[in-house]
Amino acid sequence: MRIFALFKHFKGIDLMSLLSVIVPCYNEQDNIFDFYDELMKNESFFKGAGVETELIFVDDGSTDDTAARVKELATRDRRIHLVSFSRNFGKEAGMYAGLKKAKGDYVAIMDCDLQDPPALLPQMYKAVTEEGYDSVATRRVDRKGEPPIRSFFARAFYRIINKMTKTEIVDGARDFRLMNRKFVDAVLSMEEYNRFSKGIFGWVGFKNKWLEFENVERKKGETKWSFWKLFIYALDGIMAFSTAPLAMASILGVFFCLVAFVFIVVIIIRQWTVGDPNNTVGWASMACIVLFVSGVQLFSLGIVGQYLSKTYLEVKKRPLYIVKEEL
Ligand code: UDP
Ligand code: MG
Repeated sequence: MRIFALFKHFKGIDLMSLLSVIVPCYNEQDNIFDFYDELMKNESFFKGAGVETELIFVDDGSTDDTAARVKELATRDRRIHLVSFSRNFGKEAGMYAGLKKAKGDYVAIMDCDLQDPPALLPQMYKAVTEEGYDSVATRRVDRKGEPPIRSFFARAFYRIINKMTKTEIVDGARDFRLMNRKFVDAVLSMEEYNRFSKGIFGWVGFKNKWLEFENVERKKGETKWSFWKLFIYALDGIMAFSTAPLAMASILGVFFCLVAFVFIVVIIIRQWTVGDPNNTVGWASMACIVLFVSGVQLFSLGIVGQYLSKTYLEVKKRPLYIVKEEL
């Protein structure tokens, strides 16, 4: 595309620009066609604006007919590409693979379940091409249709992570985003293994616009995120963008050293002055202190262990995904 841009520059020819739409899919057989139809409703807008599109489905190791349906679509529409993973690597890997493959001057990422309304794309495209933004992100302003307990923990997570890191991580932010090439290249330059896109998009900076929309419920199928999976993802996010838990471990350590020091002084003085006529007194409190402090120690060690394990995975430099088939 860069060559085209150069060409355009020299010849003064108004070549079309290319928009790549990346769609990570995991067992989405029932949504593929609906998604495609919905997306194609924007076709006249993009044609009018002189924009060509390519559609990159990333099949994240689906065990259903997702890949087959994408292939079926591809026989009808040559702008469709498919990257199939050898197994399920997670949405983060899917998005990264899509970004790597995308050739567009502009790139959009969106879910397959129609929770990211394709109708917003023209507005997003205009913001990037006409209003001078490098990326347009979206956030849902409500959590309609979500179990209340999940919403509660999600809100708590955003409050905590934003206290712990300087990178802005916006509550309700979706991965649905349209970016220009500069922004995409910046995201691609972050090759970390433990990817947390909500943080990465904020970390790279640039001029960003937020579009808000009301939560749309999944068209068909089930969410791929169990509560436990989300919990682990939240912890990964905190560890990827903050070292505050490590600092917390040290602060707790210092605090308990101080407490211990005061206790030692008190015990020594008491021993010298009144002595301890009955040395069985105080075993219960002693047991509590030992249990509590060893709990804190294990907790802190656990935090260090978590960071160590992340570093271990990072150092191995394993690929983020393995491609089984490309179309
Ligand atoms: N997804 C994926 N790999 C996974 C899990 C999900 O590619 O391991 C895709 C999924 O097919 C969908 C998008 O990521 O297009 C968002 O997933 P989902 O709708 O399950 O998440 P939610 O919207 O409930 O947060
Ligand atoms: Mg969804």
